[in-house]
Amino acid sequence: MSGTAEVTLEQVLHNRERRVLRQRATIKAFGCPLLSITLVNPGPVKDSASAREVMACALQAVGCLMAEQRWPVVHREVHFSSTGPEALFAVDASPNALKIATTRLEDVHPLGRLWDIDVIDMLGVACSRSTVGRPPRRCLLCDDVAHVCVRSRAHPLKRILQAVEEIVDAEVPMMELVKEPVAVVGLEASVSTEVAAPFAHDASVAGESWP
Ligand SMILES: [Zn+2]
Repeated sequence: MSGTAEVTLEQVLHNRERRVLRQRATIKAFGCPLLSITLVNPGPVKDSASAREVMACALQAVGCLMAEQRWPVVHREVHFSSTGPEALFAVDASPNALKIATTRLEDVHPLGRLWDIDVIDMLGVACSRSTVGRPPRRCLLCDDVAHVCVRSRAHPLKRILQAVEEIVDAEVPMMELVKEPVAVVGLEASVSTEVAAPFAHDASVAGESWP
């Protein structure tokens, strides 16, 4: 995801703290579990046109999923800033059901590998993939578990960015050709555009860690 504005690790960490505070406040305000959506967005440049496109596709796919499952989205906010796009949905559904469905979306949608959809329960705790019987996410470049490669810095950043770019270049134009909500194997497309509460574009913080 090419762009210009680099962010520091400190900014990313600071943003993560703010995200947690915002999650807590949202749970308190709406009394529902949350979907916290960020991007798999390695490297110091977090905000770019392609990052925003990948997030737009995530919002569309998650919107479809919520509509298809008839899960009421009681609040939705999206943030674009130098630390990268992120979104927060408060959804009146069980955290476990949300985790099963969103993990599937991450695994089967052509762009899903670039999305990081956390499900936060009412206690503010993120549900893990293992609690719904899903294996950990794989590395973008090899068959190892992604976080193992990140931690050991197994691959040069340049190659990881290239892998991300290849997915974006191959899949984002396909998404844009599809005027109807995106159909995903096993997830029937349905009308999705009415599920959202007012769509808050906000220039506050957003982000994602990088190795
Ligand atoms: Zn790897």
